[in-house]
Amino acid sequence: MLDFNLSEEQKMFVETTRSFVEKDMMPHEEYLETKDILPTELGIFLKKKSIELGLHACNLPEELGGGGLDAVTLMLIEKELGRTSLALAECAHRPLNILSACQGKQVTEFLEPTVRGEKRDCIAMTEPEAGSDLRGMKCKAVRDKDNWLINGVKHFISQATVSDYCVLFAATGEEETEKGNKKLISAFLVDFRDSGVEVEQGYKNVSHRGYTNNILNFNNVRIPDWRMLGTEGQGFQLINKWLGPTRLTVAATSVARAERAFDIALKYAATREQFGQKIGKFQGISFPLADMSLEIKLSNLLLMETAWKIDQGTVKPEDCAMAKLYCTEMLARVADQAIQTAGGMGLMEDLPLERIWRDSRVERIWDGTSEIQRHIISRGLLRPLGA
Ligand SMILES: Cc1cc2nc3c(=O)[nH]c(=O)nc-3n(C[C@H](O)[C@H](O)[C@H](O)COP(=O)(O)OP(=O)(O)OC[C@H]3O[C@@H](n4cnc5c(N)ncnc54)[C@H](O)[C@@H]3O)c2cc1C
Repeated sequence: MLDFNLSEEQKMFVETTRSFVEKDMMPHEEYLETKDILPTELGIFLKKKSIELGLHACNLPEELGGGGLDAVTLMLIEKELGRTSLALAECAHRPLNILSACQGKQVTEFLEPTVRGEKRDCIAMTEPEAGSDLRGMKCKAVRDKDNWLINGVKHFISQATVSDYCVLFAATGEEETEKGNKKLISAFLVDFRDSGVEVEQGYKNVSHRGYTNNILNFNNVRIPDWRMLGTEGQGFQLINKWLGPTRLTVAATSVARAERAFDIALKYAATREQFGQKIGKFQGISFPLADMSLEIKLSNLLLMETAWKIDQGTVKPEDCAMAKLYCTEMLARVADQAIQTAGGMGLMEDLPLERIWRDSRVERIWDGTSEIQRHIISRGLLRPLGA
């Protein structure tokens, strides 16, 4: 039976997060935009408050110290956080869900301090020559008695400068397949204090000011065997466990930003006058508003249905791919049209539209480009037919 009502707990999370976003984050957006960094004290305050409100590790199971929230509730929270450009910064970071694979000493050394907010994690998969084609990665981990010796370079690694460690994906061997030899990928917990690890400044990015991307160099980094996360050669299983929910988070952020841009455009159309009347009276302005509101509604339905499928245990990779593809491309269309609605003012920093437009660009690239999402969706359609 379909039920679109929110539970009392979901309403409480939505209200709490909304108030947190509006009172404690939105007033600092301009500072973040102009300085490209959050003041340290503000970052500490927001993180503390996020922990107090139960938002910090709400994505992890209760038995691991997390909030144990279902995917629908998580997406409702992401939609609230996603309205502000501060959400990606330190304050709204949640631990990687793949940390739930931690075992033994990994739990006390990495998982638990991360859940408590004492350590921060980041994820290192992409390399200068291996982006969409992750299996082409050159970063290698070679077993050396009870240690692993790691060499290689990762780039585009988000927020490494404010992290304590990364979940690193590296090649640990090869397997023979019908299509030739394929690299076997494994995951490791690499502390940035480990000898041979270097965290470099990354590139200057048009999207998301204050959210750094970094280059990580691993030069003969020796880490003990117990730091391998999950099973040797099964790194892709971990990547896939992370990618689905992460793609849905990107979709939720995109819907949130589109709603914010739409609200501004709607008010502008209802108040701005040209040729002696409100510009919303011109069909050239009002019909796109109708299309924008419809696209946002469809995106919300797609997002929530996919989250619901995660909760039912029936979600497929193509479901998350569809949600990411549609919601991120919808955001691009809505942000662009919102600027058109506001005319020249749309491009000025006085309105957040130009920022939403700039920030929206990366959503179609990270966590799998739009082309890769189309590849996943079409593969899901064709494979059952033997193609
Ligand atoms: C700001 C930012 C932060 C990031 N943060 C992280 C992070 O924290 N950790 C991390 O590991 N990675 C991170 N990434 C990497 C991100 O996931 C990759 O940029 C993304 O997966 C694309 O890889 P690429 O940039 O190398 O592009 P490429 O793979 O080189 O793709 C270039 C173009 O070719 C297309 N293409 C490639 N293969 C195919 C194909 N099979 N079919 C059709 N078209 C194809 C792509 O769609 C794209 O249009 C980040 C990226 C950015 C920009």
